Amino acid sequence: MAEYWPAFMRECEARLTVGAKEYGDGSHRAPVKKLIAEVQEELRDVSGWGFIAHTKLEKLLETIEAIEDMMPGACPKHPKYTPDKIPATRCPRCWMIYSVRTVQRDMLGMP
Ligand SMILES: [Zn+2]
Repeated sequence: MAEYWPAFMRECEARLTVGAKEYGDGSHRAPVKKLIAEVQEELRDVSGWGFIAHTKLEKLLETIEAIEDMMPGACPKHPKYTPDKIPATRCPRCWMIYSVRTVQRDMLGMP
């Protein structure tokens, strides 16, 4: 997670720079009551975005559970193909089987 910190800080700095240009760097001179109102408004926005993020994470969880339940099966055209290695053909069914098994194994930690 530590590798994300520098990028996060760069994004925060970029937003401060854009805000300073957009508002003439006057935020430091703004009345305290205006600052409080701005912070309260931002907190309401964060709460709203939190709800949106929560619903998107619920959908992502449903998708992960569906992928966990998926049984890739065998390709009718290439019954000897096993999803442990990259398909040698351009067969969409073999690639789907390979993709599902790769996600199950490498991302979901399934055996
Ligand atoms: Zn196939």
